[in-house]
Amino acid sequence: MNMSLSIIVPCFNEEAVIDESYKRISRVLSEMKYLSEIIFINDGSYDKTEQILSSIAKTDSRVKVISFSRNFGHQQAVTAGLNHCFSDMAVIIDADLQDPPELIPDMIRTMNDTGAQVVYCVRKQRKGEGFFKKITAKWFYRMLNSLSEIKLPVDTGDFRLLDKSIIREFNKLHEKGKYIRGLISWIGFKQVPYYYERDPRFAGETKYPLSKMLKLATTSMLYFSTKPLRIATTIGFLSVILAFGLTIWFVLGKILGFTHADTGWTSLFVLITFLGGVQLITIGIIGEYVGNLFKEIKNRPEYIIQKKENFGDDPEKEI
Ligand code: UDP
Ligand code: MG
Repeated sequence: MNMSLSIIVPCFNEEAVIDESYKRISRVLSEMKYLSEIIFINDGSYDKTEQILSSIAKTDSRVKVISFSRNFGHQQAVTAGLNHCFSDMAVIIDADLQDPPELIPDMIRTMNDTGAQVVYCVRKQRKGEGFFKKITAKWFYRMLNSLSEIKLPVDTGDFRLLDKSIIREFNKLHEKGKYIRGLISWIGFKQVPYYYERDPRFAGETKYPLSKMLKLATTSMLYFSTKPLRIATTIGFLSVILAFGLTIWFVLGKILGFTHADTGWTSLFVLITFLGGVQLITIGIIGEYVGNLFKEIKNRPEYIIQKKENFGDDPEKEI
């Protein structure tokens, strides 16, 4: 039986790289024996991405295109790709060729050799990325892991190979705030790392400004852990203990005459600002969780599709 393979490529304003990534991916696919397709998700691009993808789809029926009605975000684009994937295996890959498509055959080999359901790519080295991006990414993955209730592999992006059982389980998840690499870890089964060197972006600029990075970071933290709440409680307890100790110390000091509490403007000032800060942070953390509950409860779709190309009459998965 011939196995089938889908390549899922999210694109947001990638006019400078699409042609090249299509060429490299399709060269890799034509050297393999699988029935294959490339699903490009045009995440509300406002450059020429849509036209370029349409013209590729017209010449190559293996290329499917999903266009969103606006920019919904990278994680939503990948989700849409997986929702429309019916193959035995799928690879999630960025459009900018930072993750070399030439590794795909070897990733499949690793999957076959190890009998794993997921082969996730771990970056040994990141070329062509700024110091700030590297240091924040490194710091972020370590912190997330210490907060998270399940173990999330560090230094991995969404570049990975999934088999059918993972795709099926992923498509059953209904949460709106998606942190895909975390969810895939959470699904379980056998998952093995694959080490590679990350190339610099082929052309164009990063589509992940600091604001999007922070959004992804908060989603991953809040959806994978309730530890921030516990940290808030712990700080609360510590302040109470501190306050209790200070109270005893100052009351006794006043009675026995070893403190001069009435001259203590500074200590009052420090305590009030400290406790005020702790309370605001705690309310903020609770607020973030409540906000996410609100978002989930509204139950809006994760993305809206404006146009699909080359899908024929494929049934769409219920989402
Ligand atoms: N992307 C997307 N929607 C967005 C932002 C990014 O579909 O809102 C895509 C982008 O086109 C690329 C991938 O997500 O294929 C990763 O983005 P990028 O390479 O800019 O991120 P970086 O590698 O700099 O973290
Ligand atoms: Mg990139």
